[in-house]
Amino acid sequence: MTSAKQKKCKYCDGRGYVKNNAAQKVDLCDCIKRQCKCSGEDNYMYYDKDINAYRQCICRNYAFRINKINKIYKEADIPRNYQWKFIEDIEMIDNDKKGIPNISEFLEIIEQTLVNYEDIRKRRGLLLWSELTGNGKTLAAAIILNTLVFNFGIAAKFLKLSSDYFGMLKKTYSNIDESEINVIKKLIDYDVLVIDDFGTQRSTEWENEKLYELIDGRNDSKKMTIITSNINFEKIEETALYDRILSRIMEMCVIYKVKTPCYRQKFLIKK
Ligand SMILES: [Zn+2]
Ligand SMILES: [Zn+2]
Repeated sequence: MTSAKQKKCKYCDGRGYVKNNAAQKVDLCDCIKRQCKCSGEDNYMYYDKDINAYRQCICRNYAFRINKINKIYKEADIPRNYQWKFIEDIEMIDNDKKGIPNISEFLEIIEQTLVNYEDIRKRRGLLLWSELTGNGKTLAAAIILNTLVFNFGIAAKFLKLSSDYFGMLKKTYSNIDESEINVIKKLIDYDVLVIDDFGTQRSTEWENEKLYELIDGRNDSKKMTIITSNINFEKIEETALYDRILSRIMEMCVIYKVKTPCYRQKFLIKK
């Protein structure tokens, strides 16, 4: 092998696939396409005349990984505004060409969470809170989820607490093919789960119980959970809100106050 060949491809960094931003999916990188002998056909096998037999094409494992990532991404239920957003989509300056206050720290917490994911000893959940709305909490959570799916092809899900989670559970009561326990178990099994809008729940006894089952289950199985909330977590332990759910969250998460200003819906995202 020549030394040039051993060098990592600058387009895919050795992953073998790249982002297709227009189609919001990943594609095979040219570095693999150039070596492909199957044209993506015959289940990624090609006929080798020299040995008179079929062989696996170099693209085969990459193709399986790409299909897996695209499927996970499609089924993750990320809200429209946050689909296919990555750290490079964050706008660092405002309309007056001034740097957005606290933006470096905002990027730092995203990057730190991503880097730590690779090290099981450092991996923690993340709680992003601020009483201000529209200042990037959900964006940060979605970027982390999108990037982890892109980098590692791990199972991921975006959950809006009030509408998705409790709605999903209630649906099982009238559906004999799906049980509540199965829904919760599936949600516990995702490698990374975003729980958006924690604190908007009505906190009935039933909601609290179901929320506890989910969060406690994820904590037990050491899965990464990213939570966004408008609740003030600064003095949370002194408030009436403090209960076993919050104590689990604080045990499993890095608690971070998002200090970037409100930029309404299109916050920070480059056009
Ligand atoms: Zn490449
Ligand atoms: Zn091929």
